[in-house]
Amino acid sequence: MRMQCKCGEILSNSMAPNDIQLRVYTDREWDDIINMGEIDSINIPHPKIDVWRCPKCERVYVFEYGNHKAIKVYKLEE
Ligand SMILES: [Zn+2]
Repeated sequence: MRMQCKCGEILSNSMAPNDIQLRVYTDREWDDIINMGEIDSINIPHPKIDVWRCPKCERVYVFEYGNHKAIKVYKLEE
């Protein structure tokens, strides 16, 4: 997936690893994952939300998986 940030920067997650996509779990989500047992780095489930951060302006875009339109956009305040 590829998109243009509001600042003009092109964001893409086609490179793996990349510095755009953040793995953000709630503590509860993470706890559920740990309690599944037999976890290794290969089969850790993706978080429920997909979070992208622009390296230029630090805006943060939040997506639901499978939905290419951001459900939330955060702009740096401080
Ligand atoms: Zn940006």
